[in-house]
Amino acid sequence: MIAKSMKQFTANSSAVRAMFEAGAEMAKEVGAENVYDFSLGNPNVPAPEALKDAITSILKEMPSKQVHGYMSNAGHESVRTKIAEKLNREQGTAFSQNNILMTVGAAGALNVALKTILDPLDEVICIAPYFVEYGAYAANYGGVVKTVPADTENFQINFKALAATITPKTRAVIINSPNNPSGVVYSEESLRSLATLLTEKSAAFGSEIFIIADEPYRDLVYDGVTVPYVTPFYKNTLVCYSWSKSLSLPGERIGYLVVPSEINDYDEMWNAFCVANRVLGFVNAPSLMQLAVGECLDLSCDIAYYDRNRQTLYGFLTAMGYTCVMPQGAFYLWMKAPGGDDKLFCKKAFEEHILMVPGSSFACPGYVRLAYCVDYETILRSEKAFETLIKKY
Ligand code: PLP
Repeated sequence: MIAKSMKQFTANSSAVRAMFEAGAEMAKEVGAENVYDFSLGNPNVPAPEALKDAITSILKEMPSKQVHGYMSNAGHESVRTKIAEKLNREQGTAFSQNNILMTVGAAGALNVALKTILDPLDEVICIAPYFVEYGAYAANYGGVVKTVPADTENFQINFKALAATITPKTRAVIINSPNNPSGVVYSEESLRSLATLLTEKSAAFGSEIFIIADEPYRDLVYDGVTVPYVTPFYKNTLVCYSWSKSLSLPGERIGYLVVPSEINDYDEMWNAFCVANRVLGFVNAPSLMQLAVGECLDLSCDIAYYDRNRQTLYGFLTAMGYTCVMPQGAFYLWMKAPGGDDKLFCKKAFEEHILMVPGSSFACPGYVRLAYCVDYETILRSEKAFETLIKKY
């Protein structure tokens, strides 16, 4: 029998996954080429060849214990140093290896962060639309998610609602830019306003509020958009990065947490993050992958492929009359559900063999998310089905 506390997780088990599995079933019936599966953010662009070469030479050239042995819970020092140097070059920061903790993906980084800062019933604010797993991650440590409704004008941050949501129990605000599911990048202006608001609120409440910047899509941006780095705006910021999307490595579970020296009680906090990595059972991030990404820090997967998908999909959908947000980053298209009922729209889409995820799964009903990290041919073949679908409205 499963624990009572586990029931909340199984009951709310992800609609995204359910859709993915329904798609696999449908593909068996009608053929995979006739299913337009935009449900899951699983990168279809291959990892760069240079990454395979790096893995091969690490395995050939490095002593086994160095590649496969236990290490410091924070990860390989050489890799952490290279990451710090890259961030310093690109973001003007002043990090060292002591600010970089290697993690089991961004999910691992988020869990390490939340484990370290949350006591039961502490509140974690999430800004809609947001990645549904945040709720489960906060609940892992007894945290309670408070949702800030979306700013449906431009999908930046609804500051009025955010200000009203912060209480003395608020421990963290999770932000995600480029955003899953909206594809929007938060502007510098939004980050400045966020920093000002949190500084005011923590002073008023005598509390400490962290920004947790979840950034697995930082390097997936289009049209020369830049993603402002958050740590210069607000000292109590933790950044969660991963190579799941930028190097197409989601199954390898590799990322890092940035712990700036400026955060309150840095020494105690850093030690606690390292301990959290260990006691959560991760112990350390996968060693071979740490070393491999350390050799590929300036590489990315073929972002131009996603860009072509983005432009084609956005182009024909808007021409048909759908209302979409032009994605600035990530590989999701955020679209208004015709008729307003996102779940019903997804049901009707399913009848046309189109799989997408209702906005309700991201705390933002009335919209749907299409993950366009799929073959270009799937995008092209789906056009007719979208045309049939909009005629139902
Ligand atoms: N955060 C967001 C917004 C995501 O979309 C995902 C994965 O899709 C994650 C975190 C988890 O990423 P990782 O595979 O690096 O754990």
